[in-house]
Amino acid sequence: MSPLPTAIVAALRAVLADGPVPLHEPRFQGNEQRYVQDCIASTFVSSVGAYVDRFERALAEYSGARRAVAVVNGTAALQVALRLAGVQAGDEVIVPALTFVATANAVHYLGATPHFADSAEDSLGLDPIALKDWLAHSTERTAEGTRNRHSGRPIRALVPMHTFGHPCDLDALMALAHDYRLALIEDAAESLGSRYHGRHTGTFGLLGTLSFNGNKTITTGGGGAILTDDERLADHAKHLTTTAKRPHRWEYLHDEIGYNFRLPNLNAALGCAQLEQLPDFLASKRRLTARYLDAFAGLEPVRLMQEPPGCESNYWLQTLILDEAVAEQRDAILTATNDAGLMTRPAWTLMHQLPPYRDCPRAPLPVAESLARQIINLPSSAGLA
Ligand SMILES: *Cc1c(COP(=O)(O)O)cnc(C)c1O
Repeated sequence: MSPLPTAIVAALRAVLADGPVPLHEPRFQGNEQRYVQDCIASTFVSSVGAYVDRFERALAEYSGARRAVAVVNGTAALQVALRLAGVQAGDEVIVPALTFVATANAVHYLGATPHFADSAEDSLGLDPIALKDWLAHSTERTAEGTRNRHSGRPIRALVPMHTFGHPCDLDALMALAHDYRLALIEDAAESLGSRYHGRHTGTFGLLGTLSFNGNKTITTGGGGAILTDDERLADHAKHLTTTAKRPHRWEYLHDEIGYNFRLPNLNAALGCAQLEQLPDFLASKRRLTARYLDAFAGLEPVRLMQEPPGCESNYWLQTLILDEAVAEQRDAILTATNDAGLMTRPAWTLMHQLPPYRDCPRAPLPVAESLARQIINLPSSAGLA
């Protein structure tokens, strides 16, 4: 038998075309040119314009959320969602250790502290069973809610993230959030198109957030959105992300300290065209999953990540999980695949191992730590199958 890195390169080559293959590239084969040209012709390329409204309506309709508020990127969406949920300086917010740094950064921007929790092997998202144990022995209930017994700080919110597009165990996490009086904010940056028991991710919590960065399932160049069923929160999100200016024919009156986080009309035009193609992208990604499943079927010590039971995943990134026994070959596999022009990537460095977040509170993280050694993300673009 050939060595594992060689066998993995061969399996990938059986699925992918020759030549360099990126991890995830955008695809512009719909109305992108038309809408962007139209936007330029209108001169409304910036903060005001019809495409922003149209994109927001299309996102709400697609996701089933009552409202969507488009913003400049997914990180800003999360920052504002957390602020609207009442997160303040001095609070703690529970986030997975296995996530992109933006989740922790958004908490930090509000002067709050991220508190890291472990992941579940079947979803790669927050593990509600481990978290329940951790909260039971490390927190106390107060009149205001929940307090970290060790730091003395209030724990205000819980931020599940749907890793690589796979929905996490929302029912159990919502029950925990309810029991401990934590606001539930979903970081659905990676899961546009993913459903949990038929309902779109990002619509379960008080607020949910999306990202349309260039490497995500659809892109606006850069962009994000806040989803919510609460009209009042949606109006406030719009107000806060557009400098908190009161409507008036000429006066500049700002009634709180807002942000310039609006999504330019030019980017929204791109988003409208991309969203039209989302069903095709999702179908193409599922075909790629089927091909990878075939190609890796004979390779014992690896498995391809599949959607958790009861969930429909967007398969944003395809993920190979190495058995613990061969996890020490991860870097050799990354080297062999990237040398062959097949772009693969490991999981993110865990949040508690990053210098700025080393001293933050955290639960035991055994699963996140082993997943970080086992995960290899594969070329995943919609155009590949
Ligand atoms: C992409 C991403 C974000 C937000 O990213 P932006 O680049 O700011 O749009 C947030 N959280 C996670 C988990 C992400 O993958």
